[in-house]
Amino acid sequence: MSNDVLVFVEFAEGKATKAGLQALGAAHTLAGQLGGSAIALAIGDGLEGEAGNLGKAGAGKVLLAGGDAVANYSPDGYASILAQQAEATGAAAVLASATPMGKDFVARAAAKAKCGLASDCTELKVEGGKAQAVRPVYAGKALVTVSAPGTLWATLRPNVFAEASSDNATTPEAVTVSFGPGDLKAVVAEIVAGVKGKLDVAEAEIVVSGGRGLKDPAGEGKQNWENLQALAEVLGAATGASRAVVDAGWRPHGEQVGQTGKTVSPKLYIACAISGAIQHLAGMSGSKVIVAINKDENAPIFKVADYGIVGMVEDVVPALTSALKEALG
Ligand SMILES: Cc1cc2nc3c(=O)[nH]c(=O)nc-3n(C[C@H](O)[C@H](O)[C@H](O)COP(=O)(O)OP(=O)(O)OC[C@H]3O[C@@H](n4cnc5c(N)ncnc54)[C@H](O)[C@@H]3O)c2cc1C
Repeated sequence: MSNDVLVFVEFAEGKATKAGLQALGAAHTLAGQLGGSAIALAIGDGLEGEAGNLGKAGAGKVLLAGGDAVANYSPDGYASILAQQAEATGAAAVLASATPMGKDFVARAAAKAKCGLASDCTELKVEGGKAQAVRPVYAGKALVTVSAPGTLWATLRPNVFAEASSDNATTPEAVTVSFGPGDLKAVVAEIVAGVKGKLDVAEAEIVVSGGRGLKDPAGEGKQNWENLQALAEVLGAATGASRAVVDAGWRPHGEQVGQTGKTVSPKLYIACAISGAIQHLAGMSGSKVIVAINKDENAPIFKVADYGIVGMVEDVVPALTSALKEALG
């Protein structure tokens, strides 16, 4: 086994995603501790130029699996390529982001490589010369350190690891894609974009989330949701929601934060009229700074909040928005 770290760098619309670059940053740091280098794996057609830039983001070497067979995302295809490259590189660790794509195919790749997978990890370290990953369990109430007898496979929670910068000049090395289109059981045929330009809650650095206390946007809650949107706009934040809100059909599922929604780790999370049920906390308690606004001073959300405002969202949210507008110019 080498001391290198293989990392799958996710691309979207021809560019490395923020989560992909963060995984590469984590691989760069881990490889440095192991005495090896980060090997970035990019998969997709027409990525030669962009993949070549990964050296500046911490890759010592870049592998590119391109061509028609990978023009569209396929979980089987991506899993085969990652497993093949894990074997070919003999990497000490294989990393990817715990994004919807990473969650979809990396466990399959680890299984193909006959390895386990530590999913949604928030820390990587080296102990006795071996890579280890730390992951939250029991909805974030405990942390488990995972080590592997052979290669450590781990997916990394977005927005926890920092991107790296380096001056490595890399030219992508082409990887043979050794399956035909007929081998792929499922291939994504089309991606239907959501609202154009809308920041994804899992990728955003600031998230403003709304709960059931904001009430029905088609009725008495209309103004509350407009106020929430205005607050998000002032901060350049993405909007999130509790499951109660999503189940009621008030917001799309893509915005749901929590155990059965997305896990977010922004720099700032503002929870408006969200009680703080354990399933919601599971998705946001890793945020750097948490601000909670709730009329009930005993709401559980205040236990994880760095700043708590006891008050009505009807009053607090517009006041906060106008104070921020003034402060931020
Ligand atoms: C298996 C399972 C998975 C789940 N997954 C998720 C998940 O992924 N994400 C998730 O969020 N939940 C999830 N839940 C649901 C979770 O248990 C809670 O029911 C949900 O989070 C509650 O949403 P809420 O906080 O918006 O609503 P509520 O619990 O009803 O809380 C509303 C809050 O708003 C406050 N409030 C009301 N009016 C105002 C006002 N005018 N001004 C200020 N504050 C006000 C209230 O004091 C209250 O604290 C899951 C549940 C189960 C069983």
